[in-house]
Amino acid sequence: MSGGEVLLRAEGVGKRFGGFVALQGIDLELRAGERLGLIGPNGSGKSTFVNCLSGDFAAHDGRVTLAGQPLAGLKPHRRARLGLARTFQLPQPFASLSVLENVRVPLLFGGEAAAATPRALECLEEVELAGKAARLPRELTQVEQRRLELARAIALRPRLLIADEAMAGLSHAEVDQILALLLRLNAAGTAVIMIEHIMRAVTEFSERLLVFVAGRKIAEGAPRAVLALPEVEDAYLGR
Ligand code: ADP
Ligand code: MG
Repeated sequence: MSGGEVLLRAEGVGKRFGGFVALQGIDLELRAGERLGLIGPNGSGKSTFVNCLSGDFAAHDGRVTLAGQPLAGLKPHRRARLGLARTFQLPQPFASLSVLENVRVPLLFGGEAAAATPRALECLEEVELAGKAARLPRELTQVEQRRLELARAIALRPRLLIADEAMAGLSHAEVDQILALLLRLNAAGTAVIMIEHIMRAVTEFSERLLVFVAGRKIAEGAPRAVLALPEVEDAYLGR
């Protein structure tokens, strides 16, 4: 579901760690409601790019706007309030808080304390975890932990959800659960950036695919066309 207007615009985003250039010259224009896939070998800068968008890292170079508003200097919770949500490759729940309390946290920080409990329950319904609201995160299965991570991300009704390897380590059927969930969120209007190694899922999901190699964007376009490019095949075969 893509609308017309540009939701996220990144221009020349770059990030260094000491002398190591992890990301360089990344441009991206994402439309409201778009489904974008981001692929690339391990270490190609996908998570670093997400961290620069979310404010978890300060980018060294470039400019990012969300619905026209510059994000530079805004902390992650400020960006979340503006509608940008992300999940972490390794789920990061608060271990000592219940499943429900974990989803209440972003609502408390996001200025929606009054409605935190009903909204958190609604999110748990959305990811089919309402029956486990009182459990601790460690009592959940792996796919349930992924769904909790998504429930926490969608609590503030983001305009953009970035899912960083939300399907890693899951079975075929579990991948389909997460895929269906992301498609449902997208159908309700949320733009989604899916970072994924599971080609079947990312190809089926994405309207457009970006490919990162060694911190640069090397290809962009319709999934099947992009995957057929020799330079993309080379990147994956390590040639
Ligand atoms: P991907 O998500 O595509 O697998 P990352 O963005 O995690 O790749 O990493 C890109 C590169 O940046 C890797 O070489 C990684 O080791 C490096 N890197 C990522 N985060 C840090 C960090 N916090 N400190 C130092 N190097 C980092
Ligand atoms: Mg990563």
